[in-house]
Amino acid sequence: MAQPRVDDLLRRLLVQCAPEQAVTAADIATGYRSGLVVTGPKPRHTVRHLRRTGYAGPILCDAGRYSGSHPLRAGAGLRGAWTAEQHDLGLVALTDSGYLSPGDWPGLHRLLADARGHPPPLLVTLPLGAGWFAVPAWIDRLVATLNNARLPVAVAVVGESFATRYVTRGLVRLLTVTVPVVLLRSDIGALGAVCHGAHAGALATTSGLFVPALLGHHRPAVLARIVERTPGLADLWPCGCPECGGGVPGDLSPDGIYRHSLHAQLALGDRLLSARRDLTAMTGAWRAQCEQALSVHEEIADLMPPWPVPPALRWWRDAQPPSVGASVPRQNSYDASDRRERIDRRTS
Ligand SMILES: [Zn+2]
Repeated sequence: MAQPRVDDLLRRLLVQCAPEQAVTAADIATGYRSGLVVTGPKPRHTVRHLRRTGYAGPILCDAGRYSGSHPLRAGAGLRGAWTAEQHDLGLVALTDSGYLSPGDWPGLHRLLADARGHPPPLLVTLPLGAGWFAVPAWIDRLVATLNNARLPVAVAVVGESFATRYVTRGLVRLLTVTVPVVLLRSDIGALGAVCHGAHAGALATTSGLFVPALLGHHRPAVLARIVERTPGLADLWPCGCPECGGGVPGDLSPDGIYRHSLHAQLALGDRLLSARRDLTAMTGAWRAQCEQALSVHEEIADLMPPWPVPPALRWWRDAQPPSVGASVPRQNSYDASDRRERIDRRTS
């Protein structure tokens, strides 16, 4: 197999899953511009199995040492053996970083220093406590630190969902960095992030039924109630994925719900990211998608009070990328074209 490159991940909506879901996820991801993030401390067997059975798309392995009831702290540093194993498996290595509590600058510097000693290709995993995003000055300092370090990174937001205004805002601000950023463990917000300049983003939501017109996951019983109560919106619900075959997703098994949800999100990703040479067009397409979903939610709220309109859609719609202040490292080979786009957007 050819040497894997961080570049291979550009503008991909990835599927993050446990090893036991990997075969299903790979089967679906193959049909789209996607890839896998396998979560767990022992991914070797899963990766080998996926390759043996012909899955040729990108795979990343998230060791997940930063999560769980006793998360490792970032100050513990990185294990060279983990990075070496990823390379041995033919993968871009995601470092096995510990948790970065808000403002843990020594931990951040430890991760970056350790990563400098590991061979490429690699992404420095930054499991950021949500509190990092609450302080714009921290995000700006983080951007400056990462620009200086010139190592591609993978960010996971730990401890809060994306349904938090400051996380969405802070993330969009963070995405002005000049190094590639892969967003791990997200929901459909991963697509929003890629549309705002993230290198790639990973979908990790595993429960609920993804409803494209609502841009979110809902319980099947809730969708059934909406369908019944809003006859005027009937065109919005049928799904063309292989699970639904043009019908309204209804009587699906839990596995069928998972498969439908992946198909529906990845199809949306392919549609929005098809203009992937043009970041401005992607940001506009994502905003329009949020706007459309908001108007559907508002119509449902009129017919089915007190339907909660998800505020995250408004935050994404209104997120303003700040102007790019940092200089562009020309010798940065992994995605110079991407950086130029960002500069173009600033000046247009
Ligand atoms: Zn479907």
